[in-house]
Amino acid sequence: MGSVIIEKMTKQFGEFTALHDINLEIQEGEFFALLGPSGCGKTTTMRCIAGFEQPTSGKIKIGEKEVEKIPANRRNCGMVFQSYALFPHMNVFDNVAYSLNIKQLNASNPVKQLGIYARLLSKRLGRTPKDIQEKVMKILKYVELDQHADRLTSELSGGQQQRVALARALVMEPAVLLMDEPLSNLDQKLRHSMRNTIRTIQQDLGITTIFVTHDQEEAMSMADRVAVMDKGNIVQIGTPTELYSNPLTPFIADFVGTSNIIDVEIVEQINGTIKLKGDNFLLQSTNTIEKKQAKAIIRPEHIQVLPYDTDVNKEEVNVLEGIVLMSTYLGPTVRYDMKVGDQEIIVDTTYSSGISIFEEGRKVKLSIDHGRVLLI
Ligand code: ATP
Repeated sequence: MGSVIIEKMTKQFGEFTALHDINLEIQEGEFFALLGPSGCGKTTTMRCIAGFEQPTSGKIKIGEKEVEKIPANRRNCGMVFQSYALFPHMNVFDNVAYSLNIKQLNASNPVKQLGIYARLLSKRLGRTPKDIQEKVMKILKYVELDQHADRLTSELSGGQQQRVALARALVMEPAVLLMDEPLSNLDQKLRHSMRNTIRTIQQDLGITTIFVTHDQEEAMSMADRVAVMDKGNIVQIGTPTELYSNPLTPFIADFVGTSNIIDVEIVEQINGTIKLKGDNFLLQSTNTIEKKQAKAIIRPEHIQVLPYDTDVNKEEVNVLEGIVLMSTYLGPTVRYDMKVGDQEIIVDTTYSSGISIFEEGRKVKLSIDHGRVLLI
């Protein structure tokens, strides 16, 4: 059973509280991401689950077992780190076989020191038992490295090394796979293809996976659910779509995707529509709220840019006047930085050939659907 439950877990380092009373329930087979800025406590949460850190208080359950008192090597967690942590002097096969060999020696030998294991192991390498041989080659084939089994890991590319690290974690058939920023050392293109590789393997094996990242795109594209962390707290848990469309705070709106966050005052509420006053402009929203002062969250792709002379009915749509500060051509989209009153607003529009891009300094109209103005 590979579910992971964390109840009221706090972790202190001396006077500093790195995790405040956090709660998590990760289902068996789920791909779950911990997302947040540097220092928010993602790695500490992961290390507590793996058993490399002891929580100051709280409970951790993996499957049916409470694991706080169980040492790391008996928690049945596979780990993949940002740095890969491979042995550069060993070939691909031996790197993956290492932990299985250790496990076998562990069963047959009462000596508990790793140094002694390592010496015993080095004697054994080259005559690895048949079952280990088969298991390692099967997993190497799975990550498409069976052709490189004899290569030293130091001779592999970053993406190949990362796949060795993944194979080494998976060969142990762990109940839970823990991955700490595993793609951070790869270039943009490789990151993309490794995302797909990891997600496909995770789905094929149905292995519960906890994935730490500060990259929202990575979390949103790979995970079934994401926990957003800030300053040692879990601030929201949801599917990528839930987090994107219903962020609970401006911090989440800003961290998960790009947002325009605008200070507004609620002027009146009529028939489920709210009238909002911003800095030199008025808006309407259908999202009711019990406050006088609020933040309006508008995603850049929910704003339409129109030529200034477009005849629009102001009663039906939110229409603001703006000036283009900068336009950036990004291939399928054009991003505009706009000035609206004293506010700067980002707008993303779809680009297709033949459509002219509004140049810098041009006056335009911006149209926003009522239903796309979220109030927090
Ligand atoms: P990053 O994305 O930069 O890796 P993170 O979200 O994983 O950050 P953690 O590594 O979990 O953050 O650290 C959370 C906080 O706990 C940080 O302020 C960090 O300095 C502190 N911290 C972590 N480990 C220790 C330690 N062993 N001793 C003291 N403070 C620590």
